[in-house]
Amino acid sequence: MKIAVLRIGPVDEGVIEHIRRVLREVLPGTSTVLLRGVMSLPLEAYNAPRDQYNSSILLSKLQPLAVESGADRLLGVTGADLYVPSMNFVFGEAHPRWGVAVVSLHRLRPEFYGQAPDEGLFLERCAKEAIHEIGHILGLGHCDDPRCVMSFSNSILDTDRKGIDFCSECRSRVLRVLRASGTLLP
Ligand SMILES: [Zn+2]
Ligand SMILES: [Zn+2]
Repeated sequence: MKIAVLRIGPVDEGVIEHIRRVLREVLPGTSTVLLRGVMSLPLEAYNAPRDQYNSSILLSKLQPLAVESGADRLLGVTGADLYVPSMNFVFGEAHPRWGVAVVSLHRLRPEFYGQAPDEGLFLERCAKEAIHEIGHILGLGHCDDPRCVMSFSNSILDTDRKGIDFCSECRSRVLRVLRASGTLLP
């Protein structure tokens, strides 16, 4: 299984490399490819009163790029703050049928919450939210186990509480998908 990673707006190279490394570790047999260039944030996704970008509109822009990339799935990474109309914000959103997801780094830095910078914590949060969205585009839903990476994050406290890995049930689901796709031998 090949996962394409695309920067949407300026994103630090170190964050991308960390996400790619953790994805390879957590999802056996997968590879990642960093798409060249940076997609600019689409103006039509921008909501001025909210000063946020509509993540569903972003996903619709990613779908044709996913097809073009030749990869099996596509993950967009952005520093922009994202929302869906029914919520104040989202850490990310996925469209499993299109095989695309987007993750926002905006609310993952401790500084956002008035805390001291902590690069290690920031990178860990980035990886958790990226793996969570990849889990969705592999067909997984939310998990009730608060330590599982597939548990829903309503706030950064939820993100910090959950682990970087799947619980045993979600892991066997992921492995089933990877086997069905030919990524892993049966
Ligand atoms: Zn989710
Ligand atoms: Zn789980």
